[in-house]
Amino acid sequence: MASGGAAGASPTGAGSIGTGSIGDGPGLPVVRPDLETLSGYHSAQVDVDVRLNTNESPLPPPPEWLEAFQSALSGIDFNRYPDREATELRQALADSHGVLPEQIFCANGSNEVLQSLLLAYGGPGRSVALFEPTYTLHRHIARITGTEVNAGSRTDDFLLDLDEVKRVVGTHQPVITFLCSPNNPTGRAEPLDQMASVVDMAPGLVVVDEAYGQFAGTSAVDLVRSGASRSDRTVVVRTFSKTWSLAGLRLGYLVGSPEVVQACEMVILPYHLDAAKQVAGRLALRYVDQMEARVAMVKEERGRIAAAMADLPVETWPSEANFILFRPTTIDAVEVWTRLLGASVLVRDCSGWPGLAGCLRVTVGLPEENDRFLAALSESLR
Ligand code: PMP
Repeated sequence: MASGGAAGASPTGAGSIGTGSIGDGPGLPVVRPDLETLSGYHSAQVDVDVRLNTNESPLPPPPEWLEAFQSALSGIDFNRYPDREATELRQALADSHGVLPEQIFCANGSNEVLQSLLLAYGGPGRSVALFEPTYTLHRHIARITGTEVNAGSRTDDFLLDLDEVKRVVGTHQPVITFLCSPNNPTGRAEPLDQMASVVDMAPGLVVVDEAYGQFAGTSAVDLVRSGASRSDRTVVVRTFSKTWSLAGLRLGYLVGSPEVVQACEMVILPYHLDAAKQVAGRLALRYVDQMEARVAMVKEERGRIAAAMADLPVETWPSEANFILFRPTTIDAVEVWTRLLGASVLVRDCSGWPGLAGCLRVTVGLPEENDRFLAALSESLR
């Protein structure tokens, strides 16, 4: 878009990002008007003693992995572009899920996987469906890609209501229906037959975000593998950021039909997945036992936190993830959040998110961090 005059003539008027001009020179071009109401998705990065706001693993990856990764680095030809197909990583992921490598697409975090799906299937004139409250980025990335968002609601207990799903997908005919199981930020997981029913109702793709999949007993990968007519419209998105303890690596992937993988490859930039990351991800998959031990530790701690919270004036919901959603019943949530921060404990303030008035979310941390949280919470609620 032209700058200067064009920006000044923008129907969005003054105050738009980039509308200003200094002196006689042209100003910056105006940002796409449809982005103006979007604020970025940011979780506070504050320096605190106990950081329980972004659902990361409290434990690092195993030292054996780090050693293997460090020695593999010396074998990489850093002067060459990486394997564009990420052949070995995709093969290892395919083996771990019992699917073909053609059914795997990898990107820089599962957010980039979601963005690729939306670039390939969304866009102007197309719409997606989702059910609030759910992961904020489904809505956010859809809007960035110019895709219309149709939001349905959940039951009072934050589970899917199939009548509501039928209504929303029937009315809007979305190209993608997003599910999230276990759902962030509620922690609720959907039974497999419930997700299968959604695929039967929805006209397009059903993308099941399983960022916290290993904490739950079931996975929609079973639907992809089933070979039933619904299998090619089911897409499961996973990440190395949570259970694999590799949030700093930025690696996520999808399991779906080869056609969906090809569609994502059409929109992703060439060589998007660097060589070091491909090796790191492949090596991580060798340490499944350690990953499962971390998941077991987190689940145990989650039970301990939930039991302690039952004695406090907060409402909670059963979680099948590494976090717990809670609603203080006697004191305003933002006040509780602020008091916790005063005690150097950072949790997520979800109180402004759709359907979550008065709610906060705490990530399960190390036992000593959880103790700090519980002590600070009970003090904050006094
Ligand atoms: N999906 C869900 C449900 C999440 O909670 C998150 C992380 N907050 C992501 C996807 C994004 O994870 P990644 O680090 O792989 O981009």
